[in-house]
Amino acid sequence: MRILLIDDEAFALELLVHQLSSLGFRDLTPVSGGAEALALIAAGARFDVILTDLQMPGMDGVEFVRALTQHDYDGELVLVSGEDKRILKTAEQLARAHGLRVLGRLMKPVEPGRLAEVLAHHADAIASRPGADGRRYDPDELRQAIVAGELICHCQPKVSLSTGALTGVEILVRWQHPTDGLVFPDRFVAVAEEHGLIDGLTQSVLRDALRQTRAWFDAGHALHVAINVSMDNLSNLAFADFVVAAAQEMGVPLSSMVLEITESRLMKDMRAPLDILARLRLRHVDLSIDDFGTGHSSLAQLRDLPFNELKIDHSFVHGACGDAQLAAICDASLDIARKLGMRSVGEGVEDVDDWNFLRAHGCDIAQGYFIARPMPMAALVDWLPEWERRCRELGLIGP
Ligand code: C2E
Ligand code: MG
Ligand code: MG
Repeated sequence: MRILLIDDEAFALELLVHQLSSLGFRDLTPVSGGAEALALIAAGARFDVILTDLQMPGMDGVEFVRALTQHDYDGELVLVSGEDKRILKTAEQLARAHGLRVLGRLMKPVEPGRLAEVLAHHADAIASRPGADGRRYDPDELRQAIVAGELICHCQPKVSLSTGALTGVEILVRWQHPTDGLVFPDRFVAVAEEHGLIDGLTQSVLRDALRQTRAWFDAGHALHVAINVSMDNLSNLAFADFVVAAAQEMGVPLSSMVLEITESRLMKDMRAPLDILARLRLRHVDLSIDDFGTGHSSLAQLRDLPFNELKIDHSFVHGACGDAQLAAICDASLDIARKLGMRSVGEGVEDVDDWNFLRAHGCDIAQGYFIARPMPMAALVDWLPEWERRCRELGLIGP
């Protein structure tokens, strides 16, 4: 890995070089400022990772990041600073907004363990690089896939934080592509929304999910089944009737259904969504505000729409126990849910610290990799006893 290090303090630079060498990194280029770094890049030097300090005389780290986007740098960035953590976070947001990939942030003095951890993300970042592999799909290809039944449902458990009990599952669509393998929704849901295919997609998911839910009921698992609904589904008044008819046809009670709604862009005309959601709520379908606190999934939505579940976005949940800002945002969201009589769900529970944090702060339900990764629907019954064993072993639900 070719690493470029930028810091105006000679001592800090030497320390980083020393730490990286002890971690086994050999190809290190230390420079004392942004201008020098840019000159190297302009002259054709290639780097996989750039570690840059933010606080530098002359060109500061933010200016450097801006200038870097003028060169076609395609490696990753690590931001280092002795300043307030919040400045680091803002700088990271800025770098991402510029389209740069940020591996992580490091507070000075840099701990060798953290440094190793951040650089270990390099391999993942390469794997998720949008190349030929990250292309958006052609709407015609997607239309055919929906008709051909290539969309399949995976599910992810939602469990009670007080008892550990499985309360329901969220259904997550995947495309079993004939040549590309399993394709994730971030690569085709927006295409469906933009090309009038989202009703077909949602109906296909809903039917599959309800069929499986019926099978779970018959096997003694009365689960809530949560389906992701796009705001575009809610512009067609027939949607409410479709949901009711599909549930009745499969023999699944409407009170076992949850519709998770995310608004990725502002809706101009709210008449149809209000009509549909009010009617579904009258039939006791649960309505969940997904990714709460991000995008347009906000307080105004809570004011206007009859939600009874609030899902705190994973970007606020994971790491909340060690971050005062995230903790405050989670707490405020949980407080809102409580005061509005809504069920609260924490998304993105990735480790036991996230679990303990949500539990201690009175969240009702948890969902995330720590509990289970999304899985094929048929795998759920084998996962359940394994989860119950882990709950006991880890003492997750003790007093
Ligand atoms: P979402 O509804 O917020 O779903 C949660 C996403 O977080 C899923 O990504 C899930 O795999 C991921 N996730 C689960 N646990 C963790 C965790 O511990 N950490 C982190 N970082 N992520 C976790 P997925 O399956 O890629 O879906 C992405 C989004 O695509 C969903 O976000 C949802 O908005 C949309 N989507 C999925 N299925 C459908 C669908 O059937 N219809 C529509 N309209 N949208 C869908
Ligand atoms: Mg969701
Ligand atoms: Mg979400």
